[in-house]
Amino acid sequence: MTSVTTSTQAGPRDQDFLAPGARLRGAGTGGLVELTDIERSQRLAKMRDGSLGSIHSWELVTAVDGPGTRMTVFLAGCPLRCLYCHNPDTFLMKDGEPIEADELLRRMRRYRGLFRATNGGITLSGGEVLMQPAFAKRLVKGAKAMGIHTCLDTSGYLGAHADDEMLDNVDLVLLDVKSGDPQTYKQVTGRELAPTIEFGNRLAAKGIEVWIRFVLVPGLTDDPDNMRAVAEIVKPWKNVTRFEVLPFHQMGTDKWDALGLEYKLRDVKPPSPEHTDEVRQLFRSYGFNVF
Ligand code: SF4
Repeated sequence: MTSVTTSTQAGPRDQDFLAPGARLRGAGTGGLVELTDIERSQRLAKMRDGSLGSIHSWELVTAVDGPGTRMTVFLAGCPLRCLYCHNPDTFLMKDGEPIEADELLRRMRRYRGLFRATNGGITLSGGEVLMQPAFAKRLVKGAKAMGIHTCLDTSGYLGAHADDEMLDNVDLVLLDVKSGDPQTYKQVTGRELAPTIEFGNRLAAKGIEVWIRFVLVPGLTDDPDNMRAVAEIVKPWKNVTRFEVLPFHQMGTDKWDALGLEYKLRDVKPPSPEHTDEVRQLFRSYGFNVF
């Protein structure tokens, strides 16, 4: 997802991929089935086939994470460690809450009228949605079968995990291009830029609608060469209908502290409105529909 963090954990640890324990955690998950009674091996098998996932929380939102009113589900686990992440509590899959895909689909069904009335739908976010591709595929297939608009919010780093069958059930991708210069991308996320570009190329070839997201962090991502490199990456993608410049904010600081993680952007000020406008103008000069 698009959030703002540390490179002290440059990559996923083994435990990132373990099934979640059965614990009460997360917002908006009240009433969902708690799988306290199944064995760990069974849980792992269910996670592999996608009938069970690990989520941080879900919420109903309007005017963010895609068009209309949306049910956004935040999946637990992320291979990136963005310096500016405002949801570091989604880093580890094992810290999420186990949820049956069918249970989430039942919830989605209940909101079908609302989605239709607002041109909304569902958005799978995180964490990184493609850490749990089988689960995500079940959700988008199930939602599409109910006529619900589907969206993935992703860094694209694990784009290779999204098979064609999944993408055939995705209407929109919110793709974070967190930097255009590979070195800066690595500094920001702890990972490589190339997989995101490959995924973007694939989405373009398939003609799937994409909204680009770029987080503007003074002193980190706002070097003109880095931003121009973002624009050059995106320019060939004719399926991009919207380009969002998201000003960095400090709202995640408390979570870093609570988790005992080192937050390296503590002294960084959010960009001024003028600075943000200038950056939006830069991207507009490439012909993008910038917000
Ligand atoms: S990709 Fe992962 S680390 Fe980066 S902002 Fe999103 S959730 Fe946080």
